[in-house]
Amino acid sequence: MPSPTPSLALRLLFGLCAVLFACAQVDSAAPDAPAPRTRPNIVFIMADDHAVAAYGAYGSRFGATPHLDRLAKEGVRFDRCFATNAICTPSRAAMLTGKYAHKNGVTAFDTFDGSQPHLAKMLRESGYFTGVVGKWHLGSEPTGFDRWTVLPGQGAYHDPVFLGPEGRVTLKGYVTDRIGDLAERFIEDRPKDRPFFLMCHHKAPHRPWEPPVSATTDPSGREIPEPPTFDDDYAGRGDALRENRQRIADDLTRRDLKLVPPAGLSPKERTTWLDTVPRVVDVETRDGVRRLEGRALVAWKYRRYMEDYLACVESLDASVGRLLATLDRLGLAENTLVVYTSDQGFFLGEHGLYDKRFMYEPSIRMPFVARWPHVIAPGSSTDALAINVDVAPTLLEVAGVPRPDDTQGRSLVPLLRGERPDDWRTSFYYRYYHDPGDHDTRAHFGVRTETHKLIRFPTKGQWELYDLVADPLEMRNRADDPEMRPVRAALEAELERLRRDLGDTAP
Ligand code: CA
Repeated sequence: MPSPTPSLALRLLFGLCAVLFACAQVDSAAPDAPAPRTRPNIVFIMADDHAVAAYGAYGSRFGATPHLDRLAKEGVRFDRCFATNAICTPSRAAMLTGKYAHKNGVTAFDTFDGSQPHLAKMLRESGYFTGVVGKWHLGSEPTGFDRWTVLPGQGAYHDPVFLGPEGRVTLKGYVTDRIGDLAERFIEDRPKDRPFFLMCHHKAPHRPWEPPVSATTDPSGREIPEPPTFDDDYAGRGDALRENRQRIADDLTRRDLKLVPPAGLSPKERTTWLDTVPRVVDVETRDGVRRLEGRALVAWKYRRYMEDYLACVESLDASVGRLLATLDRLGLAENTLVVYTSDQGFFLGEHGLYDKRFMYEPSIRMPFVARWPHVIAPGSSTDALAINVDVAPTLLEVAGVPRPDDTQGRSLVPLLRGERPDDWRTSFYYRYYHDPGDHDTRAHFGVRTETHKLIRFPTKGQWELYDLVADPLEMRNRADDPEMRPVRAALEAELERLRRDLGDTAP
């Protein structure tokens, strides 16, 4: 049966005409400018460090995530969506501005200059009622929002403090649930005469992976398979992997592993004990205490880490279910674009790692799922290369707002409609700036194409090259393989072209 809803092109045309009409009559910057009802609401849900490997619809080895899977079933799943800088603050700035770090000013943990144009500001100026709840983590107060209630910095998992224009407030309970409350309240209390844009930014499942106290699922029976690259010895790779400090075996502390300090320690001793990596752990079993060390201890650490990480993902999943139910209950689901993503991926034991930063797939790959009834075909997917800087231009086009000329991302709207433009990108540029920064991860930059990846570690003078078709797990560095000379030359040329086109002139 043909859909009675106007096509997206028509919607956008209506939207644009109405915006132009409204601009002709009132100050275009006025946040209370009338806006057409035809423009969709936008709910942008972002997790922090949620890897696709822990998202059911992406084929997670850890099982289903029912509500997140529902979203994918009712919308489109992007199978190749990537962060151009796999770390929290820079990725958030890239999404908000549609620009790379060297253009938006956030290369590391710099403070975001909120006076620059960005997505929320532009949507607000076009008549959207805008809000952000949860993790902001850009070092400056949010700008461009009618309502904002955000965590200070990283925020806390339990009884979190939130900041807003009126000051600080502590909300009892678990952070994911409280962010869910704030999102629900924003939607319920919004003015009903204009569309809304909500950024619902979760803290979970960021380190230290603290699950809800009320988590009732007994993790002990859960299947937590190790990934095939868990025991990677880094043979053939550069120094950066060997030198980094984000290894399950050697870098998870007692605090990360939720070990309980012995009684009688002074506060200083307690802190030292918690922040030290255990080389032996005694665990209680049905047959008494068992001493773990060596590979058995590494396996236990992995399990301990993943139990908590997955419990945090479960809280996210439930929260997404609740938000979808709210849209259903208020009759908003039909005219609301819902996006679920994460600021970047995460290592869930691949190459023996936790954390992110590196340009390897588990770290840069973001879940990106979108539902928009009558526009997006339910249960669809795309393998077109999408990147975090595409978020702003995409949502601007959805809202019928012209994008600024200096935006570097590209609108994903054709892909949402199931159409892949002939000139869609076939490569993208990546750059991680800290050197070495947290976890001793070295600075690097590179290019990923549909089939290959070339990484340059400038301070090490080293290159890595992967054939992603033959070696999707990135175990065989072929940078110095004579057979790959023409491929490497082409990738080096593409890397230079991207740097030039994007204006990244820094050495
Ligand atoms: Ca993050």
